[in-house]
Amino acid sequence: MKAFPTLIVCEHCDAVYRRPTLAPGEGVRCEICAAPFLRLSRLDVDHWLALTMTSAVIYVIANVCPIIRVSFNGLHNETTLWRSVAALAHGPVTLMAVPATLTVIVVPLLHMLLLGWVLLYARRGRRAPGFRIVMKLLVTLRPWSMIEVALIGILVSIIKLAGFLHVVPGVGLWAMGVLTVLFTLIASPDTRHLWSLTESDVAV
Ligand SMILES: [Zn+2]
Repeated sequence: MKAFPTLIVCEHCDAVYRRPTLAPGEGVRCEICAAPFLRLSRLDVDHWLALTMTSAVIYVIANVCPIIRVSFNGLHNETTLWRSVAALAHGPVTLMAVPATLTVIVVPLLHMLLLGWVLLYARRGRRAPGFRIVMKLLVTLRPWSMIEVALIGILVSIIKLAGFLHVVPGVGLWAMGVLTVLFTLIASPDTRHLWSLTESDVAV
């Protein structure tokens, strides 16, 4: 399949345009359906990569450190994100463990790794090996990361449990809050303009 990096397609109506030259922060609307379909990020590639690497570190903290600590009659217990998902797998809603694992743990990790991979090469104006496939995957994965939904769910649980248990938010929960903001920053920019910022060494 041949790639056409000088062309761009509206995601909403499939109209094809020649890729415009935009300044950071500028965007264009589709002339057919009027939907905004391309906006250039204010982040340059170096900042984008730095934020992606920071997100990966915060992701590890969010997964390793306890997100919640519960005390009741002198008994204490704490859980991490991983243990929460494992508990789902062993509870009455076993099937929920699969989408929870994918949307909260697997997809965000995959997204950060793939984005970091293409940005690492893009900062030198080059296309990473497997560039075309990675770019497609990034567009596919973007709607399936739901860290913010998990965060809201945990906060609601804390509020409900706080009525009859002593509940203390853990470091993992604060890390999830920071990760939600960082992930929004790195996942929001349109990755398609990386086509025009990079040149291929070989056919990708
Ligand atoms: Zn359109």
